[in-house]
Amino acid sequence: MPFMPNSPDFLGSIRDAKKSGFYPYFRPISQSFGPEVEIDGRKLVMLASHDYLGLSCDSRIIDAACRAIRRWGTGPGGSRFLCGNTTLHQALEERVADLVGKKRAIVHTTGFGANLGGLSCLPEDFIICDKESHASIFEGCRASKKRVIPFEHNSLESASKKLASIYEKTPDAGGFLVTEGVFSMSGDLAILPQLVELKKEYPRLSIYIDDAHGLGVMHQRGRGTTAHFGVTSDVDFIMSTFSKACASIGGFIASDDDDALESLQHRSRTLIFSAALPVGCAAAALASIDILEQEPERLERLHENTRRARAGYRDIGFPVPDGETPIIPIPVGSELKAAYFAKLLFDHGVFALPAIYPAVPKGKAVIRTAFMATHERSHIDYVLEKLSQLLKDFQSQAGECESLECSSTSADSAL
Ligand code: PMP
Repeated sequence: MPFMPNSPDFLGSIRDAKKSGFYPYFRPISQSFGPEVEIDGRKLVMLASHDYLGLSCDSRIIDAACRAIRRWGTGPGGSRFLCGNTTLHQALEERVADLVGKKRAIVHTTGFGANLGGLSCLPEDFIICDKESHASIFEGCRASKKRVIPFEHNSLESASKKLASIYEKTPDAGGFLVTEGVFSMSGDLAILPQLVELKKEYPRLSIYIDDAHGLGVMHQRGRGTTAHFGVTSDVDFIMSTFSKACASIGGFIASDDDDALESLQHRSRTLIFSAALPVGCAAAALASIDILEQEPERLERLHENTRRARAGYRDIGFPVPDGETPIIPIPVGSELKAAYFAKLLFDHGVFALPAIYPAVPKGKAVIRTAFMATHERSHIDYVLEKLSQLLKDFQSQAGECESLECSSTSADSAL
């Protein structure tokens, strides 16, 4: 039985998945060439990376990281609060605040840390958040010890109902509405223009968006999802990460609210008690913002690649949702089918991963594919050709998956 995170025999299911060759995670990549990677001596087309602009292997970024490392060293030597802060961190904060259209930003070592540290210490009475939000948002909510109320994914009606019920009982409460700008698994865009309207009805509501997959991707200059929708001034906090389009790591929270950020800088436990972002990563993020601004054609190529792939998927017969983001999930259904299809793809030179429960709702597994600006036409054509061929094999084997599923479903329901 392939790896089932919700299986009662969790470790057993991992061992079984590894034995049967279905286990798709922690694959060791021996070399990366951007849109292609080498694994076990074989080259595969990379369809799982968040390096949307394809900058991670860009020699200008690598040189910038090396220069910073020569000047400050490889390790930060401490948290930013103590001795790990550098002029480069300050420059990155100013640059990224300017990029997303906010007054100030606070950089953490990862995006996960920014959400966890930020949401747990920003002073609000309650948080309502989209049900399909990233794990780091839920961890931040949990650590905040506040009232946390999830609403249905991208549902204005559900968010409005939750708020009405909160404000009926506690009319003076201050709260956060938290959502992602671009949802990491589905590629859906948040319904931001509608969500920000809620602030008119509830003036004590602040909007916090996690734009991990929108920064460098959405808006014609890559300024993110709030700029794409023209609602930057209505969104109070923009969180994002350099680990996707910015070819590095590091997370930030940007806002016009100076007091809130000053407080965050001195309260966020992931900032104070964790080592600073290494300067090589800070320099890489800065260099990638330079390139984003100087070469808008990269962004055009990214969206052109995505449009081509989406149209190709539809021609093959995959019911892929409409969308403007480079994340295109191929709906598969069961976890087992997703693991099986991902293995077929891997064996045929395409690196794409199954997204299974709990990353997506149970029984709604997808093969998550994501495109990069540096994919050539030939990469996309290769992927489409393989998908089309493999769909036939997959359909003929799907029956076998279904019979396996009966046993795994009964195991699930025994939980
Ligand atoms: N938010 C979202 C929506 C993400 O997809 C991710 C990473 N997958 C994070 C936050 C965490 O970012 P990081 O990788 O920088 O820790």
